[in-house]
Amino acid sequence: MKVLVINAGSSSLKYQLIDMENESVIAKGLCERIGIEGSQLTHKVPGKEDWVQVNPMPTHETAINMVLSALVDKEHGVIADIKEIDAVGHRVVHGGSKCAESIKIDEEAKAIIKECFDLAPLHNPANLMGIEACEACMPGVPNVAVFDTSFGMGMEPAAYRYAIPEEYYDKYQIRRYGFHGTSHNFVSHETMAFAELPEDKRRIVVCHLGNGSSISASINGKCVDTSMGLTPLEGLLMGTRSGDIDPAVLQFIMNHDNISIDEMLNILNKKSGALALSGNLSSDFRDLSDAEAKGDEKAKLALDAFKHRVTKYIGAYIAAMGGVDAIAFTAGIGENDKDMRAEIMGHFAYLGIKIDPEKNSIRGKNVEISTEDSAVRVFVIPTNEELAIARETVRLA
Ligand code: ADP
Repeated sequence: MKVLVINAGSSSLKYQLIDMENESVIAKGLCERIGIEGSQLTHKVPGKEDWVQVNPMPTHETAINMVLSALVDKEHGVIADIKEIDAVGHRVVHGGSKCAESIKIDEEAKAIIKECFDLAPLHNPANLMGIEACEACMPGVPNVAVFDTSFGMGMEPAAYRYAIPEEYYDKYQIRRYGFHGTSHNFVSHETMAFAELPEDKRRIVVCHLGNGSSISASINGKCVDTSMGLTPLEGLLMGTRSGDIDPAVLQFIMNHDNISIDEMLNILNKKSGALALSGNLSSDFRDLSDAEAKGDEKAKLALDAFKHRVTKYIGAYIAAMGGVDAIAFTAGIGENDKDMRAEIMGHFAYLGIKIDPEKNSIRGKNVEISTEDSAVRVFVIPTNEELAIARETVRLA
């Protein structure tokens, strides 16, 4: 069975064609600048040179058609006919409170995705465009939506309700949803399997640390808490997002600088976080580490503040679960930055956590980085959201 996985943004579209017989990626790529001048498709096949096509892509439908043409292209293609694609899995950001599970696309499912436009105005409309483009280009092929918010739907009300008047929850479904759910779900299950955790010892903290970062606590795969909220702005400080902040800060700045709430939210989403603390040096953690090594104090502050916030959340989540059986690091920073992992885990020496520096240097695969006598087992588990979406697609299609 071959599954095409689509992650559609407002002006971009990422894809992977996965052979589910052996869960291998046959081809992947990216359409950029959809609806903007200078659109291009970069098609990648393992073992071959990238194929870049510059061609107008006024809509997501033209983008999908270009992807399909690339997949069956005589020279650069990987399949003989698009009929070889058995199903399409779509990353959809927000499923609202109605979608605790992935769903097969029909009119009702599309209506639910539309109902959540308000909750994810930048993402859900683009995700739906991707789905409708696939329906138009591949009639009869089943489409499945996998929601970033599904994992967080496992939370109990004590964790997901904001302490604000009930009417906002009733009228607008204002609650904590959490994001990166596909990754937290994948990594927590992968950790249970890799570590062979017995059923009564599956309290896991997953640290998804990338450009966007979030942490989750789960027991036996069920989410106890996760750091993002109604939107991805809550929780850790990130590349450009502030994370948790006293809402009175917004009122103060807006009143003094006479800016609108939209401008304020733009600042908190795009101009804050590590970028802001580093004095606008960079939102990229590699740049910040390089600058810190050269003595840049602001880069050091950005990195220290990030580590502090991650440490606070891990500590809180261990307490919320009444203990922890495994901690897993994933995503760009979590998988690659050994010093970051060692420093964060260093704060948990009081719990008896010990990291083995040699194991902590291994990259690119599942690895247990704690010592044999560590009181808690710590892992690096590379995330694979596309594979998780493909597995869900096979299950439902
Ligand atoms: P996104 O949220 O965009 O998917 P990623 O998970 O790819 O982000 O993470 C991107 C972040 O990971 C960047 O800040 C990047 O600097 C960081 N990163 C990647 N490799 C390393 C590395 N070797 N050391 C430190 N940080 C790294």
